[in-house]
Amino acid sequence: MDTFADEKSYGPVPNRAPLHGTPFIPLPLGSVRAEGWLDGQLRRQAAGLTGSAEQLFAELGPANAWRGGTGDDWEKGPYYLRGLISLAFVLDDDKLKRQAKSWVDAILALQLADGQIGPVTNQDWWPRMLITWSLRDYFEATQDSRVIPALVRYARYMADTLERKPLYDWARARAADQIETMFWLYNHTGEIFLLEVADRLQHQANRWNEFFRTLEAPEGDFRSLHAVNVSQGLKFPAVVYQRTGQNEDRDTFNIGWRNLRGAHGLAFGMWSGTEHLAGHSDNQGVELCSIVEQLLSNATAIKVSADPLIADEQERIAYNLLASAVSREFKQHQYYTLPNSPIARRNTPGTLPFADDHGDDLLLSPHAGFHCCCFNLHMGWPKFVQHTWMATDDNGLAAVAHGPSRVKTIIKGVEVEVESRTEYPFADTLLFVVTAEKPIRFPLLLRVPHWSKAPLISVNGDQVIATAGSFARIDRLWTTGDVITMEVPAELSTVKNSNGAISVWRGPFVFSLAIDEQVELVTRDDGGFHEFELTSASAWNYALRLTKSDLNASLLRSTMPANPWIAESAPMRLQVKARKAIAWALSHEGCLAGETPSHPQTLAEVEEDVTLVPMGSQSLRITSFPWFAL
Ligand SMILES: [Zn+2]
Repeated sequence: MDTFADEKSYGPVPNRAPLHGTPFIPLPLGSVRAEGWLDGQLRRQAAGLTGSAEQLFAELGPANAWRGGTGDDWEKGPYYLRGLISLAFVLDDDKLKRQAKSWVDAILALQLADGQIGPVTNQDWWPRMLITWSLRDYFEATQDSRVIPALVRYARYMADTLERKPLYDWARARAADQIETMFWLYNHTGEIFLLEVADRLQHQANRWNEFFRTLEAPEGDFRSLHAVNVSQGLKFPAVVYQRTGQNEDRDTFNIGWRNLRGAHGLAFGMWSGTEHLAGHSDNQGVELCSIVEQLLSNATAIKVSADPLIADEQERIAYNLLASAVSREFKQHQYYTLPNSPIARRNTPGTLPFADDHGDDLLLSPHAGFHCCCFNLHMGWPKFVQHTWMATDDNGLAAVAHGPSRVKTIIKGVEVEVESRTEYPFADTLLFVVTAEKPIRFPLLLRVPHWSKAPLISVNGDQVIATAGSFARIDRLWTTGDVITMEVPAELSTVKNSNGAISVWRGPFVFSLAIDEQVELVTRDDGGFHEFELTSASAWNYALRLTKSDLNASLLRSTMPANPWIAESAPMRLQVKARKAIAWALSHEGCLAGETPSHPQTLAEVEEDVTLVPMGSQSLRITSFPWFAL
């Protein structure tokens, strides 16, 4: 068995034949760190929900069955552990690393002689998919010599057991997560039986290729319309492509994306799921589990296809949906994130137009809605950061998603570091600064977003070709101190949504009306982990004025604050002309906005200047606007 005893030799691990190669190769956890505002966001997460999760949730305490107790034995602990490990090693935070190690120690110590891992009281394959992914991440970050033998023993248990105890329920829908870990393990060990296990898993899984072509649930598959399954299922064809090499498998991600947007697309990107796919209404939302799972699926699809448009969407999900779904200090979250929600309060279950209406899905709470998101949300930001950079199959490095970050890896035996110095997406300029142990030639790929107008890239002052919607490839000898400048100017655009209402975009940002949020505590917590309701203390029922389909907007910029995700100090704002749409009011017992009137009949006489801020800087929002033309 290959080992990685020498830490310095452990860089990206490409697919091993007969698996098909992928153009991009993810870097081991810990290779990419956040800088600037993105580091601040991770630190708020560590000081907020993730760092305090074991105190906030009794289910994660020593009694958790994954830690050897008699308590919760299903997905809560495994969800949390995957996010905890990701955050601990992206941040390099000793306290979080110690917490992660105590879980890993317990899980490894409890492995049974037959290879089975986890609580004997619950034999469900699904939470073990999360645990094996967590262990794989833990190995990448620590090269802990216990991990790979334990994963191989568990894979042998699967090989011995899957035929008489096949995948069922959630595990059938989410099998791609386990297959991907089998491939990872095969790449690290060369044990051919792992591919046979992967084949069996593929055979027993939901038929996702079929589903994404029609969005009709294949008979007998498990909850194909459940939006979290859909987000995880989108990874499935990309994962199995590595085994089959079929173009159809590689391309199904984009077909599925297009069909989902077409039938269920919402104004801020992605699609509705409450918890099932639910059409285009601005009163539908996206579950936080779907947001974080979609980010992971996009990363898998980018690895396989190197398609820069998938990374454009990756940023949109992180910088709009993920930023908005969690509160400003990272101590609360919302279960569903809606394009239009000028109010966030509890309701009598069954009042709202959600197939699964828990009564606290819009509440700002450490544990809103069904108790999955509060355990799964932890991987969102750190896994996004981990995948902002990837290795390429020709010994290069690719800046896949942009944001302030620093990547350190080994290229042809030479340690190389590239820092992305930027306030992106709050700024349009990025500086990439190279440090190399010794001069080394390799291709550096920079994603040029599809929305950028006249993008510019220069290396040490010399211009190179940059085309929007592609990767710029700069293949040269790199030495310490080389600086690449990238300008990706964005223009404002208005996008017509399926209901005729409009949304305002600039770069990866979608903008929302700035709303004065009035807070009412539901429960108080000394550490700030309150539950609270929000109502708007300012008018929200505005229609925007368009002239010849153009928005008359002024872009206002200010200096970068410590936390850019707070509306009052948002470093990028828009001022636009608007009038109140008089008849547009709350509905559903005052718990939702009424359906958006795309062309309101009755408008106020007075025209006002209103402010829009990036969607991610508020918990209340109007993102899908009525409009009128003059
Ligand atoms: Zn959830």
